[in-house]
Order: sequence, then structure tokens, then C-alpha cells
Amino acid sequence: MERSATVEKIIDLIGRGRCSIATAAGVSHSLVRAAVFRRVAEVAAWSMKWASMGRWPDAGFDGKPFATGSARAKMCGQPLADGFRACYVGFKADLKARHECHGFSRWYKSSLICEQCLARRDIKSPDSMNYRNFTSSAAWPLTMLDHDQWMTLGEHSDWNLVEGFRLESVGFDLMHNVFLGVGKDLVGSGLKLLIQQGAFDHVEGVHDDLDKALGVIHQEMVQDCKNHGLFLPSKPVLSVAGLCGDDDYAMLNSRFKACHCKVMVWWLAFKSQQAADANQDDRLLQVLATCCYGMQRAIEILDNSGLLMSESDANETAECLQLHLVTYAWLAAYYWEEGVLLFRFRPKHHYLFHQAVQIAEWRLNQSIFHTWDQESFLGKIKQICVKCHGATATVRVFERYLLCMAMMLEQHRRVQS
Ligand SMILES: [Zn+2]
Repeated sequence: MERSATVEKIIDLIGRGRCSIATAAGVSHSLVRAAVFRRVAEVAAWSMKWASMGRWPDAGFDGKPFATGSARAKMCGQPLADGFRACYVGFKADLKARHECHGFSRWYKSSLICEQCLARRDIKSPDSMNYRNFTSSAAWPLTMLDHDQWMTLGEHSDWNLVEGFRLESVGFDLMHNVFLGVGKDLVGSGLKLLIQQGAFDHVEGVHDDLDKALGVIHQEMVQDCKNHGLFLPSKPVLSVAGLCGDDDYAMLNSRFKACHCKVMVWWLAFKSQQAADANQDDRLLQVLATCCYGMQRAIEILDNSGLLMSESDANETAECLQLHLVTYAWLAAYYWEEGVLLFRFRPKHHYLFHQAVQIAEWRLNQSIFHTWDQESFLGKIKQICVKCHGATATVRVFERYLLCMAMMLEQHRRVQS
């Protein structure tokens, strides 16, 4: 009981972002050598070593003693942060950063798409190992790798230097995986399926002038959300281009942000449920409603749970995510046979399967790996960047960021006083 309470406290601290360490590099990847990522891992390992002891270090990162009489030299061996200690718990990042920081050779652009199992993407491999295979014939779920097995395959991460690092601790970010990934596919394709199956026949010109009809459907969507206490911005407005046109798989384009997608997934679950209830013999609508329910129910449980989930919540979330994946795979296979560009199946769906397994096994709310705040921070930095001259941007960005922070603190101080 006592141990559990301690774990709760630790993950609560991390969940609120109090202990996050940013390791992003501020230049494009082509300019960042592998050695830089290795050095970042070395510094993180050194830093975490002293944080775990709760003491100021005896020497600098390079092993050289601090200058005699300096403030840092005076702090040597002193308690750190009132005796609090910190330890490495997990690594959160989007899929590209996971690959770059850890040097994973297995990632979404390679044939072996996953570092956590032996699933493959190439069509030459046996069908049972194809990551799109979610039928009972799939063999890849039987090939899950733990950290030690992964190491025996010759894989390596520079973060092995950090005490407590394991492959399993490199999380999948649910925000990128769902709200900037599979959720966008679901909303785009699900909406087109609903239109095709007649759920919006009351909208004038829905089968003749789709662009105009989508605008009306969007207004309906905003109103439905408002009626249920949810806020969906009225812009950007849905359009054919917003669903990636007619020549590509239907999905929300980049104008729709993660927060839009999250509300739209709720709306799609709501609307597909209504359509399925009204058309009980329509197989496609029944599968779509089940698919959306699985996703929305999993999101709801995760949003309403603490970081350490109850066993029943964890099991239900895992079952709902797997239900979503199986039904989505069915829809993807159906439209693939039909030659229609709906329900694209991506590696992110595969990673969602791993998240479902991890939720059931660990009962750890995957929101611990969310990067909402970090993405928001990058957006603010970008706003500053675009106002700077290219030649001096690397210095000016940080100067102006500090200036913004100073102004914010000053405003805060005036309000307080
Ligand atoms: Zn896998």
C-alpha cells in the first residue's frame, strides 16, 4: 500500500510535467551528427546519476573539478532540491524523434517497422507477419520483444547509459498516434462512409456538390458538439481539400490540429451510432459505429483515469482499442478490395496495438507519454522564429523568448501586487 502510494506520487509529479527534461536539438537532422545525440544521452545519464543520489555533483560532466571558489564548487556534495531525488522513468517523443534519439533501425520507414516486435511491412514477407494483419492468423503478436531480447538482436540505444533505461520505457505518444494520426484517418474516412451510406441525405446537394455540403455538415458538427458541452471551432471549415481531395486516402489534412481531431472523433462516434441505430441491416454502418465506439470509449477512460489505472479500467481500455483496430482493419480490407481510397492502414495502427497491450499489462495511463505541452511550446517558438532574420535567428529566438518570459512574469507580478 505504501509503495503504491509512492508510485502514485512519483508519476503524478511526472504527469504534471514537473520533471520533464527536453532533449530536442535546435537544428535540422541533416546537420546533427549521431555523436551529438550520443553526447545528449551521456549528459542525461550523468545528470540522472546525480539526481538519483540527491546530491550536487563533485565535478563537471567532463570529470574536471569546478573552479576553486566558484558557486558550483561550494555546492559540491550538498543536498539537491531539499533532499528530493529523481530517477529516469520514461522517454516520450513522436515517432521520428524516437528513431533519431535512440538510433532505432526498426522504425516506421523500414521493412521491420517496429522495435517491439518482428512485424514487417514488405509484401514479400509471410502474410502472418504483415503488420496490417489483425486476423486470428497473425503471428507477429507472438513475437513481442522485451529489452533483453531486443539487445540480443544487436540493437542498441545510447540511452542504455541512463540507469533504469529499458526499451519498454520509450513510450508511444498517444497524441501523435491518435489525434495527429489514426484519428485523422478515422474522421476523414468515417465521414465519407456516412455520406456514402445516406446518413446526410437531408443535406442539400450532398451527392452533387460535396464541397458545399461539407460546409453545411461542418456547421451541424459544431452545433452537435455545442449541444453536448464540447467546443469545436467553426474554422477551418470541412471541404473536399480538407479531406485530402479525391485522389488520395480520405483523412483530415494538416489544417486540422490535434484538438480539432479529438472533438471530431467524439462527434463521429456520436453520429455513426445514430446512423447505425437507424439502419440496423447496414453492415458497414454497424462496423463503423463499433470502430468509433472502441476509440472514443478508450479516450474517455484514459481522460478520466489517474496515471495509475484500476485493473478494470485498464482492461476495458485495452479491449476497446483492440476492438477499434480489428474493426478498422476490416473496413480497410473491405475498401481495399473495392478499390476505394478509404481507411488507410498505417504503422501507427500497429503501435496503437502495443499501447493497448501495455495499458493492460502495466495499468499505466498512456497520457504519461503525451506531448501536448511540448508541441504547444514548439508552436510558440515557431511564432517567434518566423519574425526573426535568418542570419541572426539562432541567437535572437532565445533572446526574444527570454524577453517574452520576462514580460509575462512582470505582468503576473503586477496583477499579484
Ligand atoms: Zn510491433
